[in-house]
Amino acid sequence: MYKLKCIGCGKEYDEKETCTVCLSCRNPLDIVYDYDKRLEKLDVRTLKTAEICASKYMSFYPIKDYRKLVTLNEGGTPLYDALRINRKVNADGSGERGKNGTGSTRLFLKYEGANPTGAFKDRGSMMELSKAAELGAKAVCCASTGNMAASVSAYASRAGIPCYVAVPDTAPSGKLVQILSYGANLLKVRGTYNDAARLVEALSNKLGFVLTGDYAFRVEGQKSLAYELAEQLNFKAPDYVIAPMGCGTNIWAIWKGFREFRQFGLIDKLPRMVGVQAASCAPIVKAFNDGREVMPIAKPYTIAGAINIGDPLDGRKALAALRESKGYAFEIEDDAMLEAQQMIARQESVFTEPSGAASVAAYQKLLDRINGSGEEATVVCVLTGAGLKDIGCVAPLFAPPTIEPNLEEAERYITKNLFNLKSPISRSVRETKLPVLKTTGDVAKLVKEKYGIVLEQRELQYALGMVADFARKGKPATVDDLKAIVEESMGAMQKNVLEVIDFEVRNFAHRESESRVKVRFNGKEHVVEGRGDGPVDAAINAIRKIVKDGFTLIDYNVGISSGGTDATVGVTITLSDGNGNRVVGRGASPDIVSASVKAFENAFNVLFYKKG
Ligand SMILES: *Cc1c(COP(=O)(O)O)cnc(C)c1O
Repeated sequence: MYKLKCIGCGKEYDEKETCTVCLSCRNPLDIVYDYDKRLEKLDVRTLKTAEICASKYMSFYPIKDYRKLVTLNEGGTPLYDALRINRKVNADGSGERGKNGTGSTRLFLKYEGANPTGAFKDRGSMMELSKAAELGAKAVCCASTGNMAASVSAYASRAGIPCYVAVPDTAPSGKLVQILSYGANLLKVRGTYNDAARLVEALSNKLGFVLTGDYAFRVEGQKSLAYELAEQLNFKAPDYVIAPMGCGTNIWAIWKGFREFRQFGLIDKLPRMVGVQAASCAPIVKAFNDGREVMPIAKPYTIAGAINIGDPLDGRKALAALRESKGYAFEIEDDAMLEAQQMIARQESVFTEPSGAASVAAYQKLLDRINGSGEEATVVCVLTGAGLKDIGCVAPLFAPPTIEPNLEEAERYITKNLFNLKSPISRSVRETKLPVLKTTGDVAKLVKEKYGIVLEQRELQYALGMVADFARKGKPATVDDLKAIVEESMGAMQKNVLEVIDFEVRNFAHRESESRVKVRFNGKEHVVEGRGDGPVDAAINAIRKIVKDGFTLIDYNVGISSGGTDATVGVTITLSDGNGNRVVGRGASPDIVSASVKAFENAFNVLFYKKG
């Protein structure tokens, strides 16, 4: 029926021997079919008319008994005609682009976040877990940056097979919670995805677990993405398919799916595959553009966690897909992915994770290549995963205002265009220096232009003073600073009664901690000392000496977020006064004492104003 064949040395295997890598050269395996035999069995009419579901593609799958499929109704994801993005990207483009309004290309988005666990991986997990069940697995295991493990966990729980997964300890918490909720046994590994992958492979050999992940059977499930695209475009392949590459498995799977559909006479031409990676982690893109083999990167880092893979398991397959299809490969900066992510959400109402947004960022680059050739192309961008999966890198872009439930204040945000100060901007833009501002007129013009906000004369004067202050301190104000300047000038930030200027804490092995704190309270500076059970207590006790009591500390909570590179401690402190007022203050910092002091300061100031 089918064989597993090594893509390196060509050696063939039965699935009972190996279904992961070649036993002699360790290259990936690919499943080869006797397509003529399969074609005899294919019912083209049914295929063309039946609704999309896993079982309708059985003729293309290495499954013995389709009644035993382990499925969660994956696939059947929407294909959106992205008219607005297309118009915008063409209008922003230079030169030839957009001559006739929208250019001559059409752009579609295939939203894979609509799969049961929020990523295209489910197509492959359907196949892998169906095979694992068929082969009588006692347990499955896999390594992952998060999405693969979430998907394998869900399908393993569906199949009733125990599941063990390992992820880098930087994996976003949303994905971890998802994995654990499906009941998998999760190990966070101090290291990269590739460290986790080596560990899990050894574990599977030692304990006899079935190793799942980017291997041959997964590809067979993920092929259905191509089948669906062909069907959704009325049995025609698009001209280009843009997909992000991590291990490179998916782009190969899509390519294989199109090749099979052509072999079976269901489409008459093939698309060109366009692969995308993060600029800081682009081993496949570099290999393709330099015409060589993939060279691994030791310590990769991109905010797009799902494609943060330095040593891609299926690099060779991905290169083959790009080369055979005469495609392209692009590198995308992290900032450009975040910008594309926002654009997709705003223009087309689709929220995808940064890895998925990379394909739309690459669309702009593809247009630069193909425009001018007069080509009327249909382009599909694969949005590989759902946006909610990984919000850790996106959340810091936003700072929605927190206000009292007060009509005037709410109205002010709307009528004065204050929301414009809260819209996300990318790091590179945030850090851009402001032009020279000499007069209040200069400030008025810039603030109006950037944010649509009209400042009053005294506000302009205040703002101009702050800009000068930045310059005097040797740090010229940036676009990000301008937001703070405008906000402060408009009195959006209340002047705080308590301000902690500096502090120092000392710890001892066998006695209480000591602190020395410099605060401004009611406009007057004080230096006070305090003691306490630990450094946080010592610092807060010192501050309490100045502000006197009149309030009670009700609750103190510490949370540690270990996402990304800089682990942050988040502290919340709840204070109440004798009048039933109760406020929560928050502080965040890499350092627990700083975070606690900030939370206390914040809570105290809010409580103070509540008392009036
Ligand atoms: C897994 C994944 C990728 C990368 O796919 P590969 O098959 O590893 O190349 C891209 N985006 C998302 C959201 C993913 O989960």
